[in-house]
Amino acid sequence: MSKYQNSLEYAQQKDNQDPLRKFRDEFEFPTFHEKEVIYFTGNSLGLMPKKSRDYINRELDDWAKWGVEGHFDAERPWFAYHEFLTEKAAKVVGAKNSEVVVTHSLTTNLHLLMVSFYRPTKERFKIICEKKAFPSDQYALESQVKFHGFTPEEAIIEIGPRDGEHLINEEDILTAIKEHGDSLAMIMIGGVNYYTGQLFDMKTITEAGHKIGATVGFDLAHAAGNIKMHLHDWQVDFAAWCSYKYLNSSPGGVSGMFVHENHEFKPELPRFAGWWGYDKETRFKMEPGFVPMKGAEGWQLSNAPVLGMAAHLASLEIFDEAGMDNLVEKRDDLTAYLEFIINDISERSDKADFEIITPKDQSKRGAQLSILAHGQGKTLFDNISKEGVVADWREPNVIRIAPAPLYNSYTDVWRFGQALEKGLE
Ligand SMILES: *Cc1c(COP(=O)(O)O)cnc(C)c1O
Repeated sequence: MSKYQNSLEYAQQKDNQDPLRKFRDEFEFPTFHEKEVIYFTGNSLGLMPKKSRDYINRELDDWAKWGVEGHFDAERPWFAYHEFLTEKAAKVVGAKNSEVVVTHSLTTNLHLLMVSFYRPTKERFKIICEKKAFPSDQYALESQVKFHGFTPEEAIIEIGPRDGEHLINEEDILTAIKEHGDSLAMIMIGGVNYYTGQLFDMKTITEAGHKIGATVGFDLAHAAGNIKMHLHDWQVDFAAWCSYKYLNSSPGGVSGMFVHENHEFKPELPRFAGWWGYDKETRFKMEPGFVPMKGAEGWQLSNAPVLGMAAHLASLEIFDEAGMDNLVEKRDDLTAYLEFIINDISERSDKADFEIITPKDQSKRGAQLSILAHGQGKTLFDNISKEGVVADWREPNVIRIAPAPLYNSYTDVWRFGQALEKGLE
């Protein structure tokens, strides 16, 4: 007997007991659908916090009022706007403040970090990554190795699932790290795989990489705001994440960047520099010769895109208030309820032909469940979309859904089940 029940009364009762319940009211839910939406794509673009409108408007008002003087005289001076985000962003990923900066976009940051942390030599040039990484990461890695005069075939080691399996066996990553040992320059993996929702053991992978002398970095696009992390304690060398998925900080919003304090002042680390990475005490002397800021801020190129950062600030404040521990607790219960509902329907309907490929083990996943829809595929996806479900379709046959603990409810999950059942008819 499951502890869950597939009924509206039960879902409503769970909502009534949910300590994070009030946060749902702090978000705008899309209204484009004739039915009330069941928004399960917070892993793609998080919903808009109502207060982000005020935060952006405040900057527009200050721009109107102050013009260029807003850099110093705005209520939140633009000159140092990114600093308002640092502490809260660092909390989200488990880092020291000096190790984190919010700047640029995700793929840009990955490149900037690899300029510093992928330093191949003739003997040590390989990269280990996950197979079926997010396309942008694949292109970034491929172009990085080419930039250094290697071919992707010789330099990129992709670890995929074993034959007939959907998930990567982490043992295979660790074995490959040992196997390639001295020839391995860097490990760069998505903390949570975007396709299957599999969460990797970042601590163990980092240890294994360091043991053989490689640098270790993570793309946290699907982990930030979803997984509780300890990047500093885990000794991760570098990481980057976007703010618009679980972190709800506007389409294409700013990215976060982590550089472990171990690397703060390594002169042998080359980097691509820009004026915003320059020591801020002397930045406006505008002298030649780059003198970096201490910590992650030294990787900034440009002055802050304030409007995007205003949206991020609004959202980070909500995360701060809700707390990652509370979010993680609700995430696991909500996702388990969704898993229960899907399995319940799958067992009861003779039309159902799908399976969840995301790990069943809660310590190996976050909020996302990926449904492999064997027979039904796109038709099933289209059918549930008609019922108000906003989900994500990935060719050839995967439906990705992610109940975000900040704003999704148990009733959403129950309604999803209703839509799924109807969609199967
Ligand atoms: C969403 C996502 C991206 C997107 O990169 P942008 O530079 O923000 O467009 C990159 N990598 C992964 C793993 C993602 O999930």
